[in-house]
Amino acid sequence: MSQTKEIPLMEKIVSLCKRKGFIFQSSEIYGGINGFWDYGPLGAELKRNLRETWWRAMTREREDVVGLDATIIMHPNIWKASGHVDTFSDPMSDCLVTKKRFRSDHVEPQSGIIYNFIGALPQRVIFDVFADSELTPEFWIGWLFPRAYSEFKTFDGLAGLIQKGAASQQKGEVVNAEKKAQALLESFVLNEFKVLAPAGKPQESAAKIACQFYESRGITNPVLVEAEPTRFKVEDSRAFNPENGAQLTEPKPFNLMFHTYVGATASEDDKAYLRPETAQAIFVQFKNVVDSTRVKVPFGICQIGKAFRNEVTPRNFTFRSREFEQMELEFFIPPDEAVRLVHGSVAAWSEGADLSSPQPNWGWEMWHRYWVAQRTAYYAGIGLGPDVLDYFWQGKADLAHYARACVDILFKFPFGTEELEGIAARGDFDLTQHQKHSGKPLEVFDEELRAAAVKLTDEQRAAFIAEVQEDWNDHNKSREDAALFCERLLKGFYVPHVIEPSAGLDRLALAVLTLAYTEVEKTDAKGNKETQIVMRFHPRIAPKKVAVFPLLKNKPELVAKARAIYDTLKKHVAADYDEGGSIGKRYARQDEAGTPFCVTVDFDTLGEKGPELLDTVTLRHRDDGSQERVKISDLLGRLLPLVS
Ligand code: ATP
Repeated sequence: MSQTKEIPLMEKIVSLCKRKGFIFQSSEIYGGINGFWDYGPLGAELKRNLRETWWRAMTREREDVVGLDATIIMHPNIWKASGHVDTFSDPMSDCLVTKKRFRSDHVEPQSGIIYNFIGALPQRVIFDVFADSELTPEFWIGWLFPRAYSEFKTFDGLAGLIQKGAASQQKGEVVNAEKKAQALLESFVLNEFKVLAPAGKPQESAAKIACQFYESRGITNPVLVEAEPTRFKVEDSRAFNPENGAQLTEPKPFNLMFHTYVGATASEDDKAYLRPETAQAIFVQFKNVVDSTRVKVPFGICQIGKAFRNEVTPRNFTFRSREFEQMELEFFIPPDEAVRLVHGSVAAWSEGADLSSPQPNWGWEMWHRYWVAQRTAYYAGIGLGPDVLDYFWQGKADLAHYARACVDILFKFPFGTEELEGIAARGDFDLTQHQKHSGKPLEVFDEELRAAAVKLTDEQRAAFIAEVQEDWNDHNKSREDAALFCERLLKGFYVPHVIEPSAGLDRLALAVLTLAYTEVEKTDAKGNKETQIVMRFHPRIAPKKVAVFPLLKNKPELVAKARAIYDTLKKHVAADYDEGGSIGKRYARQDEAGTPFCVTVDFDTLGEKGPELLDTVTLRHRDDGSQERVKISDLLGRLLPLVS
C-alpha cells in the first residue's frame, strides 16, 4: 500500500492530541512505553461515541445480531484450535549493528550497491606482522584472504594458496610467509557481513558501518576483509536497515501473543494468553448464545473489547498499537449447499445486485457483499465518505487457506492508505476447529432444511451428494468429507459459515481525528492573521456536542441562565460550560475540541431588547461559523437529531 509521507501533518495532529487531551502516551512521566496509548478526557468521549455508534448500528438497530462481552483471558486451548499458537506470528529481523528490530515485511525496500565483507582483523596485528616484511598487507587482506575464502569457504585450504601467492611475490619468503599467515589467521574474525549503500553514497560510508559491526564483535580498529566479488547491485531489497544500510538478520517468526500465568503456580500448564482478537470468544460461546436466545441462522454475534498483540514495530501513533480495541461481528450463515436444498438455487452476486435487504436464498458471496455495503454505510454515517475510503480485495494467493474472500476497507491516513477494517468470508473453519478441539458439537439444526431433504427422491439425493463431492473436489476437499457433510446436511444439521467484519476502534478514532483536523486562517480584532485549528468531527461522534456560555461571567443573571441551560442539556448530551475569556477565545477553544454547537446567553436572552428575544440564545455552528437565534425551549429538540 502507498506510503505518502506527510509527517508534518501527523506531527501536528499528535501534538494537538496531547495539548487538547485526546491522546497521551501511556506512562509518560516514566518515559512512556512503546505501543501503548491513553485517551484523555476528549479522547475518551470520542472513543465512547464511536463505540456507541458501532454497537447501535451492529446490534441495537438490527433484529439479527446480538451482543457479547467475554473475558480477555480464556482457555489456552482456544488459541491452539484457532491456529494462533502455531501461526500468529510476524517475520522479524534485527539490525546487525544497532540491534534495532524490524518487521521484515515492513522494511522500506532499498536499492544500491551491496558491499560484501568476510571478516576483519585488528589493525594492531597487521602492524605487528608486517613490521619487518616486504609482503604488503594489501596482498594478504586484499587478495589472499578473499581468494581463499571464495575458493574454500574456510581457510583450511589457505596454506597452499599462501605458498603459491607468497612465492609469486617474493622468492625465499615462503617460510616466513607461512608464519605471517598463521599469525593473521589466529586473529582474523570470520563473520560475513553486508552493507547496502544507496546510489551516490561513497564506499567509505559502507566501510564505516562494517567497522561498527566488527567493533561490536570485539575487534578494535578493524581492518576489513572484503569478499570476492566484493560488491554487486541490488534493487528493492528488504534485507538492509534503511537508516544505516547494515545487513538485517534473516526473518524469524515472532508470535504476537502476550502470555501470562493463571494462578500462583506459574507452571507451563497454567500458561494463558491475552486475547489477540475478540472473535474467538464469539465462536466458543456460539452454542450458549443459540441455546439462550431465540436467534436462528442467519444471525450474528458482535463484541467490542480489548485485544493485545506484541507488535514487532508499533508505529504511526495509535495505528499499530500493542493494546487496542476491536469491534467484531461474526455473522453466521448456512452453507450454500443448505440454501440450494431449501430454495433450489443460490442467488449469485453481480455488479449492481440489490443488497438493501437480506434474502433467504443468499449464499456467502451475497452476504459478504452485503456486509461490505453495510459497513460502508456505517462509515458514511459518521463522516467517512467514499472520498476517504478505499477497498483492497485480497487475491486468491493472499487468502488464508480456509477463507473464500477478504476485503480490507482502507482509510486515507496522512501516512498512507491503510486498513481500517477487514471483512472476511471465513467458511466454517472457526466453528469446525472448536468442534474438533473441544469435542463439543457446534452444529445447528434447521427444520426447514430437514423438511426439504425429506422430499428428495433417492436419485435426487444421490445426484445432490455427487454434485457436492464434485464441487468440494474442485476446492481441494476430499470426497469422503463431502459425503459426511451431506449425510448431516440431509438430516438438517450443519456447522454455520461465517462472515466477519472486524474493525479497530483505535484506528477508527485516529481516522476521524486526522479527517477532522482543519487549519483555518483567522483575523483577530487587531487585524492580525493567525491559524486556528478546527476539529470538524461529525456531530454524532464529536466528544462534546454543545458548549454553553454566558456572555459575561460577572453578570449573575447571565450566568444563572447559562447554568440552567447547561444543567438541562447535560442530562441528554455531552455538554460543556465555559465562562472564561472573550467569546472569540471560547469559540476557538471549542473549535479545537471539535464541539459542533455553541450556545451563548446574552442580554437579549434576558429580554433587554424586548420580549420577542426573551429566552432566546445564539446558536453558533462550528463549521461555517453561522449564528442563529433559537428559543431555549427549542434547543434540545434542535440538537438531539443532529448529534445522535
Ligand atoms: P494489519 O494487517 O494492519 O496488522 P490485521 O489484518 O492483522 O491488521 P485483523 O487481525 O484483521 O488485522 O484485525 C482487525 C482489525 O483490528 C484491523 O482492521 C485493525 O483495525 C485492528 N487492528 C489490528 N491490529 C491492530 C493494532 N496492532 N493496533 C490497532 N489496531 C489493530
